[in-house]
Amino acid sequence: MAEKRIVAKALEDFGDDWHWVVLHDAEPRGDRAFWASSVDTICGIALAEGGVVVTLHDTGAPDQPNCARCLNEGVSPGLRQALDEVLDVVQAVPIVVR
Ligand SMILES: [Zn+2]
Repeated sequence: MAEKRIVAKALEDFGDDWHWVVLHDAEPRGDRAFWASSVDTICGIALAEGGVVVTLHDTGAPDQPNCARCLNEGVSPGLRQALDEVLDVVQAVPIVVR
């Protein structure tokens, strides 16, 4: 199953920081919604477990996170390229986990 990575923040939990958010085992649920087995960030914040529907909202996320730990940890050049490809499709958007 696929992992989907996007630049996002959970509006209620993340303050002003944008993170690389990872949707594990992501499956499309319509235009802007994905089911995921769990949701966390590259810097290690667990957002949801046990299966959630994540809705993407296009409110103008940046091209890259401003979370230093997301930018500096665990992102190899190859992964960064993969992320860029994902971003071409998904756009950079914040998310709401419900
Ligand atoms: Zn982060």
